[in-house]
Amino acid sequence: MTKKTTGPRGGVASSETAREINRDILLHTIHLHQPVSRADLARLTGLQPSTVSVITGQLIEEGWVLPGTLGRLPRGRRPVFVTLNDKHVTLAIDLRPEHANLAVVDINGRILSRETLAFSGQSESKADTKKAIQNIARAARSLRTAAGDRIFQGVGVSVSGRVDQRTHRLLFSPNVPWTQIDLHAELQKVLESPVEMENAANACLLAERWFGNFVDTQNMVAVSVSEGIGTGLMVDGRLVRGRDDMAGEFGHMPLEEPGPICGCGNVGCWETFASNRAGLRYYQELVPESTLTTFQELLSLAKGGDVRALRSIDKMTTYLARGITMIAAGLAPEVIIIVGDCTALWPRICPVLESRLIAKSFTPRTPRVVAAMDGDAARLRGAAALVLHKVLFRQNRFEQPKGQVTARPPDRLAAAAV
Ligand SMILES: [Zn+2]
Repeated sequence: MTKKTTGPRGGVASSETAREINRDILLHTIHLHQPVSRADLARLTGLQPSTVSVITGQLIEEGWVLPGTLGRLPRGRRPVFVTLNDKHVTLAIDLRPEHANLAVVDINGRILSRETLAFSGQSESKADTKKAIQNIARAARSLRTAAGDRIFQGVGVSVSGRVDQRTHRLLFSPNVPWTQIDLHAELQKVLESPVEMENAANACLLAERWFGNFVDTQNMVAVSVSEGIGTGLMVDGRLVRGRDDMAGEFGHMPLEEPGPICGCGNVGCWETFASNRAGLRYYQELVPESTLTTFQELLSLAKGGDVRALRSIDKMTTYLARGITMIAAGLAPEVIIIVGDCTALWPRICPVLESRLIAKSFTPRTPRVVAAMDGDAARLRGAAALVLHKVLFRQNRFEQPKGQVTARPPDRLAAAAV
């Protein structure tokens, strides 16, 4: 019979569940503190030294962890430091309407190589979409070949739009052409590998929890600003999915009516005022003869000091600030992470967002607002985090099926684990 322990919230965990949660806690701690000795792991996690030894031994046997260098102490036995085995990599794909970024990302979030593929024509026909997928497959093959003896754990794909986690179908994606086909099935077929696909903002939240600076943050919102706006929501340590996995579409909250027509069919949605497309539109209003077609071109002009380009970005930022203030009032996040190309102008954007949050706050504790680490690499790291969470962790700490016990502090689990 399986041994049971009662959790602090009244749930019941089998000793096997407890062992798996301890395994996840150790993997996370090794990641954060590597190279680290078993004695320090016991101290940092609160687990019994014997538990740490057994689980670390298993992780070494499975190949996730490497026994590394010998540490130095004033006297006594020299401890062995362990590290994550960075031979494990994932192929990360950030799929946009007009281009795809591909990268090989290791278990520590290092981007080892990357490539950008532009899609010509912007056609939404099935044939063109399939051709784009073939091009992605070709680029993926060459990245994998160049990666030599690395161990590929799978493919992670971050997309704009929502993904049904049961069927893997792209549910709602007004700004991208990928809904023409069964994207997940097509990618799995051409890449000959398991594929994890997720909304880009959700993926970025997972990346912040694994690779980033917010490992212990329980309440945060990622706002992904690209052709549209999508948000990923973490409340009380759990990813919020909502009915049909559709939670997070703040980009389509009505901000001003009448307003521009949105890809979703409504008018005046937040993203029609604060997305990259809105920034470009503001520039075209100021410079009707403009031939700019991409947000990158607008950014280059702005970075070069072009006053009209800067004004366009400022207007977009003002609307971005209005939207995040509403999200902050409704969800009470500790941190709001802005993901997107616009973060290249962070020293100009950040004060606008911060001052609006402070001005409209009704509590003294306003959320921190930060740019995602490494700008446009955030969505790639997000895609990599999807695969790592799937293959590395036995218990998903961020999504909880109904009726399952909540992950608890390690000291409460140690006795049941080994
Ligand atoms: Zn809309």
